[in-house]
Amino acid sequence: MEARKETKQFKAEVQQLLHLIINSLYSNQEIFFRELISNASDAIDKLRFKSQTEPEVLGDDSEFKIKIITDSDKRSLTISDNGIGMDYDEVLDNIGTIAKSGTTAFLEALEKSKKERTLTPELIGQFGVGFYSSFIAADKVTIITKAAGSETAVKWASTGGGSFEIEETTKDSRGTDVILELKEKEEDGNDFTDELTIRRIVKQHSDFVSYPIAMDVEKDEPIPEKEQVLDKDGKPVGDTTRKVIGEETLNSMKAIWLKQKKDVTEEEYNEFYKHLSHDWNSPLEKLHMKMEGTTEYNVLLYIPSKAPFDMFSPDRKHGLQLYCKRVFIMDDCKELIPDYFGFVKGVVDAPDLNLNVSREILQQDRLVRNIRKNLVKKLFDLFSGMEKEKYEAFYEEFGPAVKSGIHTDFENKDKIADLIRYKTTKSDDKLISLKDYVGNMQPDQKDIYYITGENLSSIMNSPHLEALKEKEYEVLLLTDPVDEWVVMSLTEYDGKALKSAEKGDLGLEGDKKAEKGDYAALFEHIKIRLDKTIKEVKPSARLKDSVACLSGDTYDMSAYMEKILKSTGQKVPDAKRVLELNTSHPVVVKLKELFDKDKKSEVVNDYADLLFDMAIIGEGGKIENPARFSKLVGELMANSLN
Ligand code: ADP
Repeated sequence: MEARKETKQFKAEVQQLLHLIINSLYSNQEIFFRELISNASDAIDKLRFKSQTEPEVLGDDSEFKIKIITDSDKRSLTISDNGIGMDYDEVLDNIGTIAKSGTTAFLEALEKSKKERTLTPELIGQFGVGFYSSFIAADKVTIITKAAGSETAVKWASTGGGSFEIEETTKDSRGTDVILELKEKEEDGNDFTDELTIRRIVKQHSDFVSYPIAMDVEKDEPIPEKEQVLDKDGKPVGDTTRKVIGEETLNSMKAIWLKQKKDVTEEEYNEFYKHLSHDWNSPLEKLHMKMEGTTEYNVLLYIPSKAPFDMFSPDRKHGLQLYCKRVFIMDDCKELIPDYFGFVKGVVDAPDLNLNVSREILQQDRLVRNIRKNLVKKLFDLFSGMEKEKYEAFYEEFGPAVKSGIHTDFENKDKIADLIRYKTTKSDDKLISLKDYVGNMQPDQKDIYYITGENLSSIMNSPHLEALKEKEYEVLLLTDPVDEWVVMSLTEYDGKALKSAEKGDLGLEGDKKAEKGDYAALFEHIKIRLDKTIKEVKPSARLKDSVACLSGDTYDMSAYMEKILKSTGQKVPDAKRVLELNTSHPVVVKLKELFDKDKKSEVVNDYADLLFDMAIIGEGGKIENPARFSKLVGELMANSLN
């Protein structure tokens, strides 16, 4: 069979990303090194994990190692691993033809930041450019890789322009070589073929990698006595050592999570985090502890300072790695932490764990369940104990993730509710807790009120809030899509019901139940006129100044929820809403007079349409026929000027 060989275009997003990487300025060019070492280390992790259930994948090559090979004349740098490797299709999928999840969001964020030529570490940190960062330092990159258990190898090469070449080839051993043809050295730049530079970089960024990172270096070796020339007194003549090339391991492979806190410096904590998370920023917070009790285990957790671009992507990995006595078992350990804390990164080292675990077994493992419970508890303690400013920084990034837990973790609902913060109609753009809200309640106020919607200013000024504002009741402003799910599950807090300002009965004290009374006939007429979209017309207890608004019954879907579902392409049944009219408003009063005089009045019909459209506009919605609305309003204006 003929060997596969092709030239392919990078996917558009990847092209854009590469263009950016190549044409940007870097304050810290050497970060590509860490990315490549991390990839190599991940590849060995994957193979090790696989070998737990299929020991034969290791063959006779079971000493895991990452090797750095340099050639200063050719200006080339190779990072080689004996990890899992990739087959032809995996190379195609992983490198170049499929954009990483979050790439588009990342590029958009860059566009917004208007810093197109300076790729800031903060932005990259959230995204993690990974392999592509090799083009920071190289003019050309070649990958030669052979998947564990495969006969053929694959060669991939690109100069980072629009395309890459890929072909089948041969390679002696399993694993991946990434070969960089380095750019011309800049005046003040690092020389990535220089031994001392490499030693420093590995020490600084990759010291904790749990496999040896080795390099051939020149060493002094003692010359064996029998090869030495001795003088008449038996003393050696000339050198007693000679220069030889030998392999040396550059990293210490320290398992800092097993150390005592006092023995780890802040810098070590930060570097370990960066290694673990592929993030270039320092973490916001860390949690290092030894759990003691019936079972003992060590935990080192980190809270990143920025949320990743793809926090809610279903294929996003969780951040916890499981170790057993310093030996890596698996990453992405979803069993150790609930989804809503999936952004937490770190290591759990549990010596009592069965080494040959599979993911399926893990789920039922009592020890694992126990660890998970404790981690969740410790994280709640950590978040609730954070000082205000730090907590707000955390909440800004991870609030949406934490909030999503309300819907999924029944047991910890109250604890999650305590972590939630919202802006309110009275908080002056500041976030407050539900506890603060309850503390601020008016003496006659029984319930907690909220309103949901896409943007703050429109819900803040929504006509639905008029009566609540008059009573000086504070209203929570919920603008995050996930809030719709929060209020579905969080129906009360501290014994007080959460009530939507735009749905159901507001339950305001002193408000007699609004009766249709004299308006019954008019309202029935309007209902028939608007029958397609409206299920009822009723006098409003919500409105004070505005003439109309739309509301729903308690369990109806909110307008915002409908919008969210539609925007995700879901089919939403067209729910009919309630048109509420303000019977103290002169328009409604006059309209009734007109209707009483002439039940067939066209003006009444036009007004019914107008009132409905105004209610839609009042909540920031889109009306069906703007041209007609505008024409009717034009006529009205002309009439009132007569
Ligand atoms: P990330 O590491 O964040 O997933 P990268 O762009 O660095 O993104 O790598 C993309 C994918 O390519 C990796 O997820 C992995 O599957 C594969 N890959 C990269 N480097 C190696 C390697 N040295 N050995 C095996 N697979 C690798």
